[in-house]
Amino acid sequence: MAENLNPFAIAQAQLDEAAEVLGLDPDMHAFLRRPQREFHFSIPVKMDDGTTKTFQGFRVQYNDARGPAKGGIRFHPDETIDTVRALAAWMTWKTAVADIPLGGGKGGVICNPRELSTGELERLSRGYMRNIARYVGLFQDSPAPDVNTNPQIMAWMLDEYETIMGHREPGTITGKPLALGGSAGRGPATAMGGMYTIREAAKVLGIELKGATAAIQGFGNVGSFAAKLAQEMFGIKVIALSDEFGGIYNANGFDYHEVAAHMAKTGKVIDFPGSVPISNKDLLELGVDILIPAAIENQLTSANAENIKAKIIAELANGPTTPDADNVFERKGIYVIPDFLCNAGGVTVSYFEMVQNAYQYYWTEEMVNQRLDEKMTHAFHAVHNMAQQKKVYTRVAAYLVSVSRVAEAVRLRGWV
Ligand code: GLU
Repeated sequence: MAENLNPFAIAQAQLDEAAEVLGLDPDMHAFLRRPQREFHFSIPVKMDDGTTKTFQGFRVQYNDARGPAKGGIRFHPDETIDTVRALAAWMTWKTAVADIPLGGGKGGVICNPRELSTGELERLSRGYMRNIARYVGLFQDSPAPDVNTNPQIMAWMLDEYETIMGHREPGTITGKPLALGGSAGRGPATAMGGMYTIREAAKVLGIELKGATAAIQGFGNVGSFAAKLAQEMFGIKVIALSDEFGGIYNANGFDYHEVAAHMAKTGKVIDFPGSVPISNKDLLELGVDILIPAAIENQLTSANAENIKAKIIAELANGPTTPDADNVFERKGIYVIPDFLCNAGGVTVSYFEMVQNAYQYYWTEEMVNQRLDEKMTHAFHAVHNMAQQKKVYTRVAAYLVSVSRVAEAVRLRGWV
């Protein structure tokens, strides 16, 4: 039977498995299977050529029992409401596993930002915020960057929000530029958090990171920093890198700074001098110590799981692995650092950003990273210990930790 690749069906199936292991109350389970609320809207945008184009936007507030909803906004041509629902569910489990006082949400716009001028992108971003301004805010829901969105887009959205509301409320949006109240260390935070979990996984598995090999899929907000930090923090040899246009391979490893300079010039990693081209598919199947999917969902599926040779899979992307692939990895004994644990560094520093905004006093990058390290190390061991104790796969263990925390908050509020 063909594998179901609908991300929301996958997110629900993952929850179902955890609910069974937990013996979760069926009423609670039913409540946690669905988003609490969602917004669907049309965003008319005046294009540079004088026409008006209408884009479809979504914001899903999956669960806010533990605190205001939190999660990024993606701009993607293949965006669907079910993808946003799944990503919002994963944000709920992510803030819970990181143990920060926030819920989970996500937003999306069906669009191809590469086809938009800067002016069109600004009008789209402002139009998105006009539609949800009254439903977001420091104590309701706080958006952030995700696939194809960045600090400039966050700046436009915050400005639109504050203009509508008539006051400054910087914590409403995170991942802002530093000049508007962003946090030091937020740019690399997702990758940095992932590095801390890789360090802890290597410790429990007895793997030496210096000289270990890695392949990284994706060179955006997350993958590019992962390449840099893997090299700088641990001396990991990154032997393959890719972006949506294709990949590059060099058995001797790449120097991040050289690839970044090539990327800045050409907009792609391919054709990097001295590299051999490699497809995104082949990159995933390389015999590396650490595989880092840092792009989008559904990359490791029943179609390629048997061919994966990595010892550790550090999921910096959201939803890169399907349940069928999970079954294979569990059987093969591949150590998977599940997405909502591995990539929780981004939202953790977003939370630090909200805290700094609230008391209008800003931390150094060292302070941010030290606090992030504490949070990630703690979260990693909570999940690892749960996996050991209950003899379950790491993803199930991560769900057990998160779902119990969310369920406790829901119960205490008297919702279920
Ligand atoms: N988009 C990031 C994620 O998927 C960060 C979300 C946030 O900072 O709110 O975790």
